[in-house]
Amino acid sequence: MEIEQDLLELVLQYAEKSSFYRNLYHGLFIERFTDVPFTNKQMLLDDQSLNHPFGTNVCVENKNIARLHRTSGTTMRPLTLVLTARDVEHVIMAGSRAFRTAGMDDNDMVFNCMNYCMWMGGFMDHQSMEATGAAVVPYGVGKTENLIAMLLEMDSPCIHSTPSYLATIRKVLQEKHGLSPKQLGLKKGFFGGEAGMQDEVFRKKIEDEWEIKAINANYGLSEVMSILGAECDRREGLHFTALPFVHVEIIDSVSGIGLQLEAGVIGEMVVTNLVKEAQPLIRYRTGDIVEIISTEDCPCGNEGFRFLLRGRSDDMLVIKGINFYPEAIRTLLSQYPECTGTYIVRVPNRQPIDEISVRVQVLAGEQNHASLAEEIKKQIRARLFITPEIILVQDIESGENKIRLVERWS
Ligand SMILES: [Zn+2]
Repeated sequence: MEIEQDLLELVLQYAEKSSFYRNLYHGLFIERFTDVPFTNKQMLLDDQSLNHPFGTNVCVENKNIARLHRTSGTTMRPLTLVLTARDVEHVIMAGSRAFRTAGMDDNDMVFNCMNYCMWMGGFMDHQSMEATGAAVVPYGVGKTENLIAMLLEMDSPCIHSTPSYLATIRKVLQEKHGLSPKQLGLKKGFFGGEAGMQDEVFRKKIEDEWEIKAINANYGLSEVMSILGAECDRREGLHFTALPFVHVEIIDSVSGIGLQLEAGVIGEMVVTNLVKEAQPLIRYRTGDIVEIISTEDCPCGNEGFRFLLRGRSDDMLVIKGINFYPEAIRTLLSQYPECTGTYIVRVPNRQPIDEISVRVQVLAGEQNHASLAEEIKKQIRARLFITPEIILVQDIESGENKIRLVERWS
């Protein structure tokens, strides 16, 4: 098989340049690509903590490094990422393709409300959006009051942010300006960095409330290459928009056995960088559980497969013998207009997990909290077979504008 051969050659090339892969493959008999061992984020973090500052999977000399970023560190320590000038170019090519797929063009003025401090969602996505022809405002996170003042001055501006940031904007808009979300006059919301937008009820609520087009525009993993997927106007799952640069496999996340990449399959996404100079990843387990929606080419012009996120393999909790993905709560919550869609599942850091609580963000108002909490609890028990304690709150703290879904306490 030709692709198989190309992949194997690639592995050997990377191994020649990087002691990370040389050590990993030492003594192994590798005949086929599927014999190549998996890698994961923990391995990269461990390597980096022993080999400061960039780890041993850097396949270029330091003088060729053109850019430094960091992962957000939502669930783990941050990982330092380095890119050559060519790597940056490729990230922008893939990123701009994703934003174009999401419907961004030269008629749009986009306020980029992602974190510019080291995070790829800031400066790198800024460059990708600019490459679509759109005007991009380097806003960053925080200073919501000033943001609103600027948005109100513009004619139909767009926003690129995490969906949970809307709750903050809504609050400030109401408290400081006495305005409703619709009165902000936003045209399109390009959302990423968190799941949620693929849930139609959650999305419809945002679209109705803000009178905008809410687009699932940015699925990405910065250690792989920033943006990997976006949906088109048909809204039938995310297109994997980084196909020429990344090879994708789907595996069973428990056994590690490869699955066919075909419609209906659910498994963990494993990626290999086909073109990356600085820190290429080989058979990298993303931890993202995805469902393949279709492998047919789309009328929008994108080829390849479409997918939806079903959860994180490391978020999966086993509660009284039941496999539970906290992501599943999102759809249930979206039917309650009082809920903003943001929530955090809290569990003790021990096995077996015998306690579970969910902090659910609700809008300020007169609603009867006790009966709403009871109703949500009943729904979760009926549909997901677990019985969490439900705590309704108005504020949910997010460390760096990206809310983690599961908090483990000890
Ligand atoms: Zn399409």
